[in-house]
Amino acid sequence: MIVVMAPHATPDQIRDVEDRIIGWGYGVHPIYGAERTVIGAVGVPEADKAHCLEQLERLDYVESAIAIIKPYKFVSREFRPETTCINVGSVSIGGPSVIMMAGPCTVESYELTLETAKLVRSLGFSVLRGGAFKPCTSPYSFQGLGVEGLRILRAVADVTGLAIVTEVMDPRNVEIVSQYADILQIGTRNMQNYDLLREVGHGSKPALLKRGMWAKIEEWLQAAEYIVSGGNEKVMLCERGIRTFETHTRNTLDLSAVAAVKELSHLPVIVDPSQGTGRWSLVEAMSRAAIAAGADGLLIEVHPEPEKAIKDGAQSITHEGFVALADSCRSVAAAVGRSLA
Ligand code: PEP
Ligand code: MN
Repeated sequence: MIVVMAPHATPDQIRDVEDRIIGWGYGVHPIYGAERTVIGAVGVPEADKAHCLEQLERLDYVESAIAIIKPYKFVSREFRPETTCINVGSVSIGGPSVIMMAGPCTVESYELTLETAKLVRSLGFSVLRGGAFKPCTSPYSFQGLGVEGLRILRAVADVTGLAIVTEVMDPRNVEIVSQYADILQIGTRNMQNYDLLREVGHGSKPALLKRGMWAKIEEWLQAAEYIVSGGNEKVMLCERGIRTFETHTRNTLDLSAVAAVKELSHLPVIVDPSQGTGRWSLVEAMSRAAIAAGADGLLIEVHPEPEKAIKDGAQSITHEGFVALADSCRSVAAAVGRSLA
């Protein structure tokens, strides 16, 4: 941490700041300049750094207090230089293969889910997506089938041999969703639901943590840190688009975040171009772009009849569309030295 004293700070005030810093357990390295004094604080205790910074910034004889190390640790590349590999069923997420996770936005019935699951399997993919608990902006829209949806997902997965990724919204439901799912999705609206993050962090199921639609990369990584610091190291990050001034697309899919997060963190990165664009016609192009940008996996909404889908029909691709997407994504994966699993 670096503390820049205000130009008018007196020797007593400088000493006051040094005493506070020492009191928190830091060592101080002051530079007494002609214009102003800058104090370096080192040997940081794992105490609440943000709290120390806030306290210092409140003083009118401190100009600024800046953290020089990242506010997350366990999820950082410095902590673990190689990308974390998460094994789910027969696949390794974060390994050489790009993983495809596909299925309906929401589970509607056993028959429809099975139809899409068979397609996913027949193309050689291993993970089925589908929402049972749906976070909805409107309280009047379909909220998902709940536990019945989980049962359908599990039954379909057992018949087809697929693994399941499905959302959990409430810390009280982590246990029940974990009984049915292979990967717990934490949705964009819950990225900063700290009780939920902690609960998932105490469990052992892999988590797919979506980026909050408003969240900065640093906030997203701190959310991941909540889970990992709780003991669950199996976290993948999912870029699903952020709010910008653009209204043509539902969200702005931030693919620069994929490359950025790959630099900053060892966690695997998944891209969801379905929520990311809100338009089925853009999903294939953005899937290819995501793989080229370094994504370790894709999360795609597929429905046998998107025009009849209960949720997110506008961004769901048809079965034929998914076959075409898989085909063109395989070429891009090969071009960047990977395969599609
Ligand atoms: C979804 O995957 O269907 C979903 C609701 O995702 P998000 O949380 O990104 O909106
Ligand atoms: Mn959806």
